[in-house]
Amino acid sequence: MFRSRRGRTTAGIVAWARSHRSLLNGLACALTVGFSAGFVVWEEPPAPGTDLLWMANGVLLAYLLLAPRRRWTMYLVAGFAGQWVCGSLVNKAWASSFPEVSLNVLEVLVSALLLKPRNRARPDFTQPRYQLRFLAMAVVAGPAVAGLLYGIDSHFFHDGNLLLDWGLWVVVDGLGTAVMTPACVALFRDGLKLPQPASRAILYWALLAGGTLLALSQSTWPPAALIYPLLVLMLLAMGMAWAALGALFVTVAGSYLMISHHQALAEGHGIAGNPAVRLQILVVSAMFTLYCISIVLERQAAAEKKLNEIVALHQLVTENSRDVIILADLDGHRTYVSPSARHLGGWEPEELCREVCVNLVHPEDRERVRDAMAALRSPDHNDLIEYRMACRDGGYVWVEASLRLVLQPATGAPTGILSMARDITKRKQAEYELQEAYHAIQMLAVTDQLTRLANRRRLDQYLSAEFRRAQREGEPLSLLLMDVDLFKSYNDTYGHLRGDSCLKQIAEAAMDVVTRPADLVARFGGEEFAIVLPNTPSEGAMVIADQLCEQVRGRRLPHSGSKEGIVTVSIGCATVIPAANQHAPQLIQRADEALYGAKRNGRNGVMVADQGVVMAMQHAS
Ligand code: GH3
Ligand code: MG
Ligand code: MG
Repeated sequence: MFRSRRGRTTAGIVAWARSHRSLLNGLACALTVGFSAGFVVWEEPPAPGTDLLWMANGVLLAYLLLAPRRRWTMYLVAGFAGQWVCGSLVNKAWASSFPEVSLNVLEVLVSALLLKPRNRARPDFTQPRYQLRFLAMAVVAGPAVAGLLYGIDSHFFHDGNLLLDWGLWVVVDGLGTAVMTPACVALFRDGLKLPQPASRAILYWALLAGGTLLALSQSTWPPAALIYPLLVLMLLAMGMAWAALGALFVTVAGSYLMISHHQALAEGHGIAGNPAVRLQILVVSAMFTLYCISIVLERQAAAEKKLNEIVALHQLVTENSRDVIILADLDGHRTYVSPSARHLGGWEPEELCREVCVNLVHPEDRERVRDAMAALRSPDHNDLIEYRMACRDGGYVWVEASLRLVLQPATGAPTGILSMARDITKRKQAEYELQEAYHAIQMLAVTDQLTRLANRRRLDQYLSAEFRRAQREGEPLSLLLMDVDLFKSYNDTYGHLRGDSCLKQIAEAAMDVVTRPADLVARFGGEEFAIVLPNTPSEGAMVIADQLCEQVRGRRLPHSGSKEGIVTVSIGCATVIPAANQHAPQLIQRADEALYGAKRNGRNGVMVADQGVVMAMQHAS
């Protein structure tokens, strides 16, 4: 691939810069710190209050706060060299400035050690806690340590006033650090990002440059009136790093205009009588203004970032959740439906938002859903309801929805209903099948396999229940015990399989006679059957018993061993209006005795208990 010579040169420079990154960083540190140190305007002799703001330490501190500790030595050396060389170039006092520069570097080291006890701690000027620590450690403690040494030196070797010099050092350095460190941290960490479109940067810089020159070249009105709004505009449009650079530009431009004895800065009195002091007050207050606004902006940006994260998380959860999340007002008008609604009935979320909640609920379930929604109004109430919901294609799906009242956080007043709904059609289907299977098993447990009649267990349950009911209501209860006559010989003659078939036919014959829903025909055991006839007096029971005998005979099942030549039955019949102290087995006992009587009477007939009457005998032949 063809590459131009310029392209190769640029790539080479970039590669060299990458491999010598720390050297370049050190050089940049030396230059920026040196420039900040050289900026301070000296007058010979210095006017009182001229050095109101020492910025170089703040710049060096920003380097240390952002760098790992292993690079501190390099930055400290670079900062020292930059300050000493540039300061001395302006000052023209190489030897005498050496101790002061050393104290400056010591001050920065003390502040950095106090402010960054752990290697990984990052400066965060948006946090009030960090701001307080910064003020205590870097604005007060660091300058206080270095200033004390300066004061002692001044007192003992230069006839100075210890307290005055100490105080002056702390104020000048503290102020410089308070202004420069946060700005430089923003500048070094975030870099200079160009606004969109980039041409705006030129516009803002042109405005600031023109405004600054205009404001500082006259003395009729305060320059801050024009410079502050322009710096704030730059901060809002391009960020703190650019605004800090803008403030630096104001400082440099102001210094130049002042040194060249231009008519810079309005006249003042007292300490403000010195134009250098006025310029520095202007820069300090501008930086503080920018710093305060940037804190507000950064907090806003942090809150916005957090909000965006929450929104993204919310979207991730709602869009990927199997549950449909629905927000509705208290009247059931949906205000939000999550996209998973498409899997629940095939509706688009917007379609669901147009419908009132209950309209899509199966008519049979609507009342229940309305009740559940109304019940939510009571405090701390939530509900889990199951209902059928109409699908887009006309069918229904089973839905399980957990309902909860949404309360306004400030007042606690209910504002709507939150519902988490999921499709439970498959579960409902499985539940239904399980229920069916359970019923089948229950039926099996109470059914006789051969005849499909109720079995002995069911008979016992039913009889005792009906016995208690008759006891409560004072009604007659009748029981018939029916036994196939000479069945042993039937089996012997025709075999057990024919015997079984015969029993089935007798069961069918019995079912044909006993038709009232409350009556129960059961297999009592072997070739014996029991018929429970609730609310039936003795006369009625005898009629049924007679019909049973008749019905079996009517089937004309051949039985060579019987006198009649066909299968017949004998029936014992007992009726009772149960007294309080009586029990169901007593009724069975009496019916059994009656049956025994019927057998003794020659079979093929009915005997009523306690009456000794045998009825319907030997009709068959
Ligand atoms: P009786 O007229 O006195 O009742 O004479 P019986 O032969 O019917 O008397 P018994 O009660 O002694 O005999 C009942 C017979 O019923 C015995 C048994 O062989 C037959 N049996 C009982 N249960 C079944 C069954 O489930 N299937 C078949 N095939 N036979 C049965
Ligand atoms: Mg028997
Ligand atoms: Mg028998």
